[in-house]
Amino acid sequence: MIEVKHITKKYGDTLAVNDVSFKIRNGKIYGLLGPNGAGKSTTMNIIAGCISATSGSVNINGYDVFENPLEAKSLIGYLPEQPPLYNEMTPSEYLEFVAEAKNVPYEKIYRQVRQVMELTGIYSMKDRLIKNLSKGYKQRVGIAQAMLGNPEIIILDEPTVGLDPKQIIEIRELIKKLGESKTVIVSSHILAEISAVCDHVIIISQGKVVADDEIKALEAEISPFDKLHLSIKGDVKGIREVLDRFENIQSINIYASKTPGVIELTLSVTKEKDIRDDIFFAMAERRYAVITMEKEDTSLESVFLSLTSETKGNPKLYRQRKKKKKTTDDSFSDNTGENDAGNTESVPEIPTEENDNQNNGIDDGKNSADNTDDKENN
Ligand code: ADP
Ligand code: MG
Repeated sequence: MIEVKHITKKYGDTLAVNDVSFKIRNGKIYGLLGPNGAGKSTTMNIIAGCISATSGSVNINGYDVFENPLEAKSLIGYLPEQPPLYNEMTPSEYLEFVAEAKNVPYEKIYRQVRQVMELTGIYSMKDRLIKNLSKGYKQRVGIAQAMLGNPEIIILDEPTVGLDPKQIIEIRELIKKLGESKTVIVSSHILAEISAVCDHVIIISQGKVVADDEIKALEAEISPFDKLHLSIKGDVKGIREVLDRFENIQSINIYASKTPGVIELTLSVTKEKDIRDDIFFAMAERRYAVITMEKEDTSLESVFLSLTSETKGNPKLYRQRKKKKKTTDDSFSDNTGENDAGNTESVPEIPTEENDNQNNGIDDGKNSADNTDDKENN
């Protein structure tokens, strides 16, 4: 078990990690999810004992990372964001070198190196120079080096960044395989990445934990309903009669429309069935014309984007959102004449590969004066 308690890391005025606490239980795959600059790498570097925290503590299976660094570190295999590979070595030379550095007993080195090469699928590449390997194979060498010494915990910082789709799938499979026998923590800024391999997700935004839950629980709790926004030509009473026949509709909010004779409404609908066709035909039968029908995205993706949206210095908290959602979902009122503005979360742009690098503060060098100490230790 890893216990991260109130860790804070300051770089000058930058709060890279701001009072972060969470627990990692043995034998599961955990995802550390957040946009670039959220504090994932800093958190992982602190857990792995590569950099110190300004305050707070990290305890790994009973060992404090700062007080008993050797014992704590021996329990962890770490693949940093920039894998520490030596390009002029072959994978087998490099892995033997790392095994020695990790104090793997001399007589076990050959077997262990072979084992991790087979597990990560790089055995056929063992005698090529690392510099001539594809990015996917380099990443596997990085994962192989993390596995040497047989640590109980494997920490992988953005292991699929820069890989092509086929390589991404292969690395995901490898992570799942690792998860069968080890505790794995993997970071990413892409939700799909985390939901594809992890059991549990910790979302961080601007240095703070904004959600910490099983992926399934997060999905179920946060979006049990789909939202349908409709505008229909007809009268309120008749439209209601039609809608009341649908058991899947959880709540109906009706609003006055600017257009005379047109009713606007928002429905909360249980997710198990898509009833859009049925609504359309039921309305048509009564000669009510459905002018617009739009399904709101209440997926994990939209939740993630909303949780990590940049409200400066004040990341939204999952708990707060949950409360707010409940009150709106439970209501069964006709808010005629009112606007639904209170319910609408602004959803920021989806991160893409292109804008990825733009807000990653590490590369811009503007903090380089504070940088030196820690970066050297990596
Ligand atoms: P992530 O891995 O989630 O992209 P990081 O942990 O790398 O985020 O960075 C979190 C914040 O801390 C960013 O604003 C980044 O600019 C800043 N930061 C990280 N490392 C350093 C450093 N060595 N010196 C100064 N600022 C840093
Ligand atoms: Mg990072």
